[in-house]
Amino acid sequence: MSKSLQAIRGMNDILPEQTPLWRYFEGTVARLLDNYGYKQIRMPIVEFTELFKRSIGEVTDIVEKEMYTFEDRNGDSLTLRPEGTAACVRAVLEHGITGGGQVQKLWYIGPMFRHERPQKGRYRQFHQIGLEVFNLDGPDIDAELIIMTWRLWGELGIRDAVKLELNSLGTSESRSRYREALVEYLSAHHDKLDEDSQRRLKTNPLRVLDTKNADTQAVLVDAPKMADYLDDESRAHFEGLKARLDAVGIPYVLNPKLVRGLDYYSKTVFEWVTDKLGAQGTVCAGGRYDGLVEQMGGKPTPGVGFAMGIERLVLMLETLEQIPEEISRQVDVYLCAFGEEAELAGLALAERVRDELPNLRLQVNAGAGSFKSQFKKADKSGALYALILGDDEMAQQVVGFKPLRGQGEQQSIAWDALAAHLATCVVQG
Ligand code: ATP
Ligand code: MG
Repeated sequence: MSKSLQAIRGMNDILPEQTPLWRYFEGTVARLLDNYGYKQIRMPIVEFTELFKRSIGEVTDIVEKEMYTFEDRNGDSLTLRPEGTAACVRAVLEHGITGGGQVQKLWYIGPMFRHERPQKGRYRQFHQIGLEVFNLDGPDIDAELIIMTWRLWGELGIRDAVKLELNSLGTSESRSRYREALVEYLSAHHDKLDEDSQRRLKTNPLRVLDTKNADTQAVLVDAPKMADYLDDESRAHFEGLKARLDAVGIPYVLNPKLVRGLDYYSKTVFEWVTDKLGAQGTVCAGGRYDGLVEQMGGKPTPGVGFAMGIERLVLMLETLEQIPEEISRQVDVYLCAFGEEAELAGLALAERVRDELPNLRLQVNAGAGSFKSQFKKADKSGALYALILGDDEMAQQVVGFKPLRGQGEQQSIAWDALAAHLATCVVQG
């Protein structure tokens, strides 16, 4: 194939054999969010570039080097969204739905775009499920977000493979006091820092804590700790969160170096990490951003949220072989018809059955074919049963009912009784 007809590097097709697992994952999360009282919001994929610069921060990795930015035909600078929080805040402000202290518990799902080096678990178009809560400022809601994800890991069967890392960044006042202390310390060790960290020391010093460089990490061992700079309010908030996690029995690790890549966080930050995916170990990350809405032109509005990476979580389900059996089968019953008359009768019969059993996954053979070839297709479809309509069945107004997996003889079922019969052997619940 010529190069121009390939997908863009780091942007993947999700093929039919993969989509059942995606839908299972997405469906599980959506049901959970419904049950906890969250409502879905859908934002555009493209926004004005300014939105991300103002919210995420000019000197973050995302804004500095990862955004897909282009000029549209009007000359406006637009950007494919690299994350969901900025657009969500823009949307609630634009529609006034957080005004007067109204609580909003929102979630969204969809593709995000970042120009990163593609590798396992890291892509240029990737998918997130994200969640934002507005106008609740207590640690109880921070706890709810974490409790909900904990339940999710349990339902997905991956709880033992993830670990919760927690930190508090304090209010912006305590953070700036900490920043000063950190800059003073790091400046004294300037020559031992890697180049990137030297640059960050000037632009965004807290991000130095996030370094992967071993020499810089060694310098950080004795660096001032955020925990020592927390103001009373942030400290009480953090204690409140930990008490709630303890009450539910959710284990966590305090990680004073956890700062997150986006500028807008305050107080709680957290990440769910795994060692099952190699270097791309964060599957869900978030925190509180009490100053963001105001920074974006709204009234002071507390906010907290997280986003999880669907690719990484799907990869984890595959790696840990936590794939429910029922999703690998997509056909319950396969109808084979031989001859033109049987084909017509089969179509009508299938529709009658579908009327009565709307959840039945019934596939009707298309493309005619011999007895042998239709059976082969029935078997390959993964169906549990084949329905057979040939000359004999047509004459008697019955359908042959043949189990395809395991034992059981072929039986004849009257057309009128077919739906009731299928209900007993296929449709559960
Ligand atoms: P990382 O440190 O792995 O780059 P991040 O801090 O940039 O992650 P966030 O912006 O917090 O990530 O996004 C939340 C989640 O989205 C991440 O924890 C991860 O699961 C997922 N994610 C982020 N970037 C990518 C990507 N390029 N490809 C796939 N998933 C991603
Ligand atoms: Mg990143």
